[in-house]
Parts: sequence; C-alpha cells; structure tokens
Amino acid sequence: MAESRTTTAEESQENTLLQQYASATNTKVLSSQQDLDPKDRVMDEMLNWCHEQGNIVILKSATILSSSPSSRTVQNCKSLLLSKGVHPGQVYATTQSLVNLLLASGEEEERNDKTRGETTAAFSDQQKHLRDLVHEAVMQNVSDIHIQVRQTYTKIRMRQHGELRVFAEWSEKLGREIASVAFNKETDHATSHFNPSVPQDASMPLKIQGKDIRLRLASVPAHGGFDMVMRILATGEEHANTLEDLGYTSKQVDLIKLAMKLPFGAIIVAGPTGSGKTTTLAACMEMVEAVQKLYSIEDPVEKVVEAATQVPVNTDKEDRSFASMGRAALRMDPDVIILGEMRDEDTAHVMVRASITGHLVLTTLHTNRATAIITRLVDMGVSPVLLSDSSVLRCLICQRLIPKLCQNCAVPLKKSEKHQANIPDWEAVLGPEIINSAKARGPGCSKCHSTSVSGRTVVAEVIWVDEPGRAFIQKGDTLGWEKYLKENGWQDFSDRAIALIKEGICDPFDAEKVVGPINASTTVKTFIYR
Ligand SMILES: [Zn+2]
Repeated sequence: MAESRTTTAEESQENTLLQQYASATNTKVLSSQQDLDPKDRVMDEMLNWCHEQGNIVILKSATILSSSPSSRTVQNCKSLLLSKGVHPGQVYATTQSLVNLLLASGEEEERNDKTRGETTAAFSDQQKHLRDLVHEAVMQNVSDIHIQVRQTYTKIRMRQHGELRVFAEWSEKLGREIASVAFNKETDHATSHFNPSVPQDASMPLKIQGKDIRLRLASVPAHGGFDMVMRILATGEEHANTLEDLGYTSKQVDLIKLAMKLPFGAIIVAGPTGSGKTTTLAACMEMVEAVQKLYSIEDPVEKVVEAATQVPVNTDKEDRSFASMGRAALRMDPDVIILGEMRDEDTAHVMVRASITGHLVLTTLHTNRATAIITRLVDMGVSPVLLSDSSVLRCLICQRLIPKLCQNCAVPLKKSEKHQANIPDWEAVLGPEIINSAKARGPGCSKCHSTSVSGRTVVAEVIWVDEPGRAFIQKGDTLGWEKYLKENGWQDFSDRAIALIKEGICDPFDAEKVVGPINASTTVKTFIYR
C-alpha cells in the first residue's frame, strides 16, 4: 500500500518536471524522463559548480537552464563548458523551482551511485588506474603518494608509518597521464588546468567502492619532469581514535580530560609537522558535550564532524584567515573554539582573547617541547603577563610519533646483529633490566607487509599549568620550570621513549630518532669534554 503511493508520487513529480520543462523552453513535452537526465559526464563534473551558483542547471544535451539567464553565471557556465571541450547548448529561462528540482535529482543519482557501489564503466583507463593506486594506498594505511615523473620513468613511492617505500615504476607517459587526469578531471578546481612547469595545488574528492576519500594534490616542477604528492586526508572510514589509542598514557589522558571539562582556558597541542596534532585535536573534539556549541576553524576541513560547525580558512585572503575566522566565531555565541593552527601573532591574540572572555580554546603550534610553547608565544608577541593569567593556559601538550614494532616478527634486542655496537652505550644509561626486556625490528613478515612496523604511537609531554608553573611562565624561566616539573614526577619525551623501549613497543634506534642519542654524554646535565 505504502509502496504504490510512493510510485504515484514519483510519477506525478516526473510529469510536472516534463511539463515545466516544456513551458520553460517552449518545446513539445519530451518523450521520456531520460531526455531530461541531468546526470551525464558534463553534469557530473559541473554539478557541484551548479550547486554553488544555485540558479543554473546543465542538461545532457548541454542545454543550459537558468532562473536568471542574463546573469554572469550563464557566461561563466559557457566558458567552463568550453574549457572542458563541450559546446554549450541553448540557454533557456526557467523558474527557480525547476532548477532546484533538477539539482536535487542530480544529487539523488549521485547518492544512488554511492550505495550501489562504484560503476567504473564511465571512467577512462587512466581514471581507473588512479583509483586503483589510491585504493591500494588507502588499504595499506599510506599517508602520502609520491609521483616522481622524469624524462624516462615515473617512480611511485608511498609513505607508510612515516617511511617512504618504492611502490612501482611506470613509464614517463603513464605518470604524466595519471597526474593530469588527477588534476584536470578529479579535483574540484573547475577553472585551472594542470601545468607541470609551475607549482600547483588542489583538493581531490574521490568515491571508491562507496567511500568518500579526500586527497590534497601538490606539484612542483623538477629537473627533467615534476613531482606530484597526493596526501590522503580522509579514507572514508574514520572512526575517531581515543587519546589512549593514539598512545597517550592514562595519566596524561586524565589531565587532558580535566582541562576539557573546564568552562574556559586554552589547551595547546604542539609538535613538528606531521606529528599527528590534528588527530589529537579530533580526539579532543569527540569529548565536547552535545549541549556545547563548537566552532572548528580548519585549513582544510579534513574530516566532517557533525557535532561541530566547521569553518574553512583561506590563507590567501586576509578576511578569511585563521584570525579573522576565529574572531567571527567569537561573535557566534560559542562554548568551544578550535583554531586549527596558530600561525601568527594575530591568531595567538584570538586564542588569548577567547580564553579570557570565557571560552574553551583548542589549538596547535609548531614547537619541539611542551615548555617551548611559552617561548614561541612570547616570540609571537603575547606578553608573559597575559600568558600567566590564570584564565588563559590550562594544558600544554607536545607530541611526536614513533614507529611501533610488529610484534609478530620483532626480535629480542640482545639478539639483533645490527644493534650490538650500541648496546653498551644504552646499557650504561638505561641499565641491564631495560636492555633485557627491549625488542628490536625483526626481518619483516606477512602481517606487517615486510615493513617490521605496525603503525605509529604518540610520545607526548603533557603539562598541567598550575600556580608555580604560572610564576615560571611570567619570569620566562623554562629551565626552572622543567626542573620543578621533573621533581613532581612529570615525564618528558625521553622518559616516555625509555618506557616504550622497556615495554618492547619501540626499537631503540627509532626512539633515538625522536629523542636524540641515548648515551651517557648526552644524558648528563653537564657535558663532560675529557
Ligand atoms: Zn612483521
């Protein structure tokens, strides 16, 4: 019963569409719905653009329907079509309601495609090749695909767990074709064309097996060719990791949770580029309660979070920078503001102002140590007096990533050939107990795709800013502050790295890459020259 009613409703909608089309274009009623099909190659590429404009739609025949036919939109539409090699058809004036209906039906089709799974028949060989490459990368947990095109070859390398590995070698021609297909056909920059001789960047949404995968493309010219890097921003099956999953200790998680429960103040996540700061912010975002209004200022918006209003930043435009978007969010009755990155003095002041005016602020900063967050903020022009205000800084975090050993093929440290020369040095600092329980990278196995690594873990320093801490901040006494923290049981990077070595989670060589050499001469406070 219910089913037949739906069918009738659909049929009558179809008839209305056909009649509206007929009266708008002054032609006879078309014989079937198929002729009105807005879903074809051009429409596919142009659908998003049409949605942005809102007053225009392009049909299969390249016929243009617009509710304001004399506007610039129509001219722009014609030049876009021409740039895609399609000759624009007749332009007809029509009602806004018909445009809305057609735009909505185009969207419906896209949704159907998604649920049916990918139909690759409509794709060119190069597009299929590109999809295979990205699919493989997503399956293997790759973060970046490097395409290096030179005069006689193309080298494809993939970054996995922070390390680059050669994935394939292609002909120079195939590399060029894939790069230009990626840029020209798949990115949402409808207006620019791939030009290997200038640096370019774009974002690329791909639908692979029903999943929404988002990548960011960047290219630079190189001697004899060019490099293109595709960074995988979203893999379509994000489940937010908890801070414990990422590698924070339960004590550290307790501190961060406590700071998230406070009504105002700033939580700052620091670390070098590529240390997973955004992932940590996303895990914190999950802790925001539903009764709180959350604004997240991001560049770019990487993963859609329903609970938040995500505001995209355009760093090329003054009025759409982190600072101006942050100031705008402050006028929107927020409880929590996430500033994706504190890049300049302007943004730092927005952070301070938001905390002082009673909001919880989360943001990231590039520094190498948690205590260095203060030094960096002072350097950015925020006064130490403001920073030591009890309503500003709550929790300072600094993190890095260390490869985790594949436990299936890891070997005891003492049995590893290539570690032998360093064992005496390590033993002198860490003691025999740690060396006996430590493990080293094994030969690689099928479980770890022969990488001997199974993902990466966070090593972090987490500081709760207490009253004595604020006094050190005001004086700018980082050394005194660290001494005070250590006396009270705070764990710094090397304490955390040593704990991971002891537990057999990380190879000492990998830990050293993050915390520096572990030997007696670098761990003593006073360097001994003799
Ligand atoms: Zn393994």
